[in-house]
Amino acid sequence: MAHPRIEIINESTILDDSDVKPVVPSLQTQVRRDFALPWGANAKLVFLPKKSNPSPASWWIGIFDDSHQAGVLGYHDITAKGLPLGKVFARTDKQLGCEWTVTLSHELLEMLGNPSSNLFVQHQSNKGFLYPYEVCDACEPDKFGYKIDSVLVSDFVYPAWFEHFHKKGSTRFDHCKLTVRPFQVLPGGSIYTFDVRTHRINAQRKPKHVRPRNDSERRDTEFRAINGVRAPSNGNNVMNSEV
Ligand SMILES: [Zn+2]
Repeated sequence: MAHPRIEIINESTILDDSDVKPVVPSLQTQVRRDFALPWGANAKLVFLPKKSNPSPASWWIGIFDDSHQAGVLGYHDITAKGLPLGKVFARTDKQLGCEWTVTLSHELLEMLGNPSSNLFVQHQSNKGFLYPYEVCDACEPDKFGYKIDSVLVSDFVYPAWFEHFHKKGSTRFDHCKLTVRPFQVLPGGSIYTFDVRTHRINAQRKPKHVRPRNDSERRDTEFRAINGVRAPSNGNNVMNSEV
């Protein structure tokens, strides 16, 4: 199967094209060298300068200034035409002391792992609860990222992280080898469970970064609305008491 072409589009006013363009080769290295083997998903990344017209046949990641929802650094989604779409909010990142390159890496990898933003995993020992199939949320804080050349990118989990039968320490659960068992969330990481019986998010506190319901691009159910969101890593957004 041909790899998707993902266009990285700079619409931010605080980042020049000369800030964004040099980051793309490092992200391409992350996808090709680190992500493609464990996940079986690769991509060709293309940088688009400001004012360019993106190709309607490509997947897109747009870098913008400000999030329209407090505390949201980025998310991935699908367009009205059904193609994967990521958004990164660079000024919000900076205001909250986060690296926009980590948010970009996060949304890129999660788009590849869950392109339609509709995949969930059931935790066998927690019947009735679904985990979003998102590869960066459990290890999303910048401090768990790693550098490729001089670019800080996000750590990400491996498929084994979602497989309950693995014993502690028996395999590699994330790229940076920081988690040691399935479904482990690192401090400051976030993960949510959806209760299929009640249709509620299982959260110890209400997520402050749930997306607004009136987003015109989305026609989905509430639990998909939180899927793939990268939130500030303040240590307060671990939503599942079990992990
Ligand atoms: Zn995420």
